[in-house]
Amino acid sequence: MTANSIVGISGLNKWYGEFHVLRDINLSVGKGERIVICGPSGSGKSTLIRCINALEEFQEGEINVDGIDLGPTLKRVDEVRREVGMVFQSFNLFPHLTVLENCTLAPIWVRNIPQKDAEAAAMKYLERVKIPHQAHKYPGQMSGGQQQRVAIARALTMSPKVMLFDEPTSALDPEMVKEVLDTMVDLAQEGMTMLVVTHEMGFAREVANRVVFMDAGQIIESNTPQEFFANPQHARSKLFLSQIL
Ligand code: ADP
Ligand code: MG
Repeated sequence: MTANSIVGISGLNKWYGEFHVLRDINLSVGKGERIVICGPSGSGKSTLIRCINALEEFQEGEINVDGIDLGPTLKRVDEVRREVGMVFQSFNLFPHLTVLENCTLAPIWVRNIPQKDAEAAAMKYLERVKIPHQAHKYPGQMSGGQQQRVAIARALTMSPKVMLFDEPTSALDPEMVKEVLDTMVDLAQEGMTMLVVTHEMGFAREVANRVVFMDAGQIIESNTPQEFFANPQHARSKLFLSQIL
């Protein structure tokens, strides 16, 4: 792990029972880096980023997030979760809470921020994702694109050091993909460290400084987007690109 890295992964191996899902993963993420992770379905992308948020256990290797060691000695999962924001394909908003309540729940209960302050901060983030006027709606009253922007705002309310995105636009109708990607581009331009699992190769070209290609639980290739798209090094990355581009 280098001096300015915020996530360091070395020798990571994980099994689901007998199934070896992550194989010898090494990845160091510097502050402000924007890494796109791609690869075929089932290659272990979700499992990898879930490990970084301590949503999954692993059997071998080390993961360090901003100085916190995520191995078996990890005592306080909430310490990791407050450093790492996560946005899922399926939004995962609380349906019975308003947008504002969704965005103040963790700051009030995990960070002990007074309600008024938490609400003021949440409104600021809702403005950033361009939906402050929806603050009193329930998730079910909003489009998928709006819900996903709320999910991004909610993650930001915890002032995370890293944001993880797991196929954030895959469940959206095509006309809503852009509004969510635009929000993510803004976040990248503000300097947020981001790991993004996505098949949106336009986003990768525009925003990523590195593309990581996974197959069968391994990182097969890690390169700049320019190099990765123009000159993929392996048969499996070539095949993948030929199928999605
Ligand atoms: P990706 O996100 O690249 O599609 P995943 O990380 O979701 O891949 O899954 C990698 C592999 O691990 C797949 O073969 C999947 O079926 C398997 N897998 C995922 N979650 C579990 C689980 N909880 N138990 C057993 N196998 C799992
Ligand atoms: Mg996945």
